[in-house]
Amino acid sequence: MRKRTKIISTLGPSTTKPKILTELIAAGTDVFRLNLSHAKIEDAKEIINNLKLSSAKLERPVAIMVDLQGHKIRIKGFSEKEFIDLENNQKFIIDTTLNDLEGDDSTVGVTYKDLHKSLKPKDEILLSDGLIKLRINQIKEKKIFTTVLRGGRLLPFQGLNKKGGGLSVKGLTNKDISDLKKAIKLDIDYVAVSFVRNKDDLIAVKKITDKKNIGLIAKIERNEALENIDSILDHSDGILIARGDLGVEIGIELLPAVQDELIAKAMDHDKLVIVATQMMESMKTSRVPTRAEVFDVSNAACSGVDAIMLSAETAVGKYPAEVVQEASRICDIAEKTSSKKIKIADSGDRFSKIDQIIAMAAVYGADRSNVKAIAALTETGSTPLWMSRIQSSIPIYAMTVNERTSRRICLYRGVYSIRLEKVEHDHARANKQVIKLMQKQGAVKKGDLVIITKGDLMGTSGGTNALKIVEVGKLLDI
Ligand code: PGA
Ligand code: MN
Repeated sequence: MRKRTKIISTLGPSTTKPKILTELIAAGTDVFRLNLSHAKIEDAKEIINNLKLSSAKLERPVAIMVDLQGHKIRIKGFSEKEFIDLENNQKFIIDTTLNDLEGDDSTVGVTYKDLHKSLKPKDEILLSDGLIKLRINQIKEKKIFTTVLRGGRLLPFQGLNKKGGGLSVKGLTNKDISDLKKAIKLDIDYVAVSFVRNKDDLIAVKKITDKKNIGLIAKIERNEALENIDSILDHSDGILIARGDLGVEIGIELLPAVQDELIAKAMDHDKLVIVATQMMESMKTSRVPTRAEVFDVSNAACSGVDAIMLSAETAVGKYPAEVVQEASRICDIAEKTSSKKIKIADSGDRFSKIDQIIAMAAVYGADRSNVKAIAALTETGSTPLWMSRIQSSIPIYAMTVNERTSRRICLYRGVYSIRLEKVEHDHARANKQVIKLMQKQGAVKKGDLVIITKGDLMGTSGGTNALKIVEVGKLLDI
């Protein structure tokens, strides 16, 4: 049986060729992320075509996620140097009036021209993912005078954050809007929105994606997002815990507690949740992960998240396929040995939709019986989504003729996507088709019980309203 936790691999220079894409899918990648902080949307078309070929070759649907750059504040560059070294206790000025290449040993520009307006003396500024720490002494006109609290090597265009957050730049930039307009013309399944502050940033994206059937993932990497998490979850399909920037803003020591809290919140709202950043960082240059990385991935898999994400590990790392293989193995073992039980066991939740009632009946029924697997014949993917919101060990095979749906469900925990070539309108034939496909996948054998869910009008309507239990190998024409 395959792992339930999904793996998102970030595309990059290490992973553009069709051969490596095929290897990444075979190793367990379910979703590919195109990070527009580095990649160009103009290159997406070719990459998506390559991915489709690899996916078809392996008969394994995969989803495509486009990650908008968002408003990341960065310092600018230096006039004569490739980098500068900042010493503890030295003075340093961030000058919002400087241009790209006007910095030197004592001062540098910044990409946010109103930065001085949202800072005050004693605030702490973090540069380069928190490596360097500055304390503000005074702000005079458009210059920010600081003392270096923790020195280090400063390279041009490194990120700048304020400890505690609160740099109130709007979430969506003009570049994001232009990228998004191009992205929705391509075959993409998810958009990840960076530096989301509140629901307004998501509403702005929704206005552009509109009826395109593209999933919306809010990246949680600012302090403000934590305060607005309930409404962010209500306005998105899920969240991505972006531990890189979030760690800089809130302090890395708070990340474990905040990660637990965000996972619980997402589950409470029945939304998708992804853990990201530095999960297998050492494998950028090493063939084996550190023990700490094994624990991190394993803990994430046991906590019931939908997916873990690999960033530089697959985008620029030396061993992209090995990283995915290793992460897959860790997830698989973690899931098999975890003692986590069904989440909504006695919660008293009421089910409001018909497909939700069917989904719950299927998962509860399977979990408390000998049923080996669930097959969900689906048009929109709504029923398998409901099924996957419950923590169980029952494999869910979601089968659909809809290409979009077959890709989108790749992100759902515990749901294995199978693309059907045609819909059988006759129920007995549909049942046989389902069982045959599951046997081909090695999911069930003769004598196993399987739950099949589907709609009365297969292929013509999305509404799942039926549940059937069949025994593999027994006459199914009734
Ligand atoms: P990024 O986001 O990879 O786009 O920076 C993830 C993070 O900040 O952790
Ligand atoms: Mn980030």
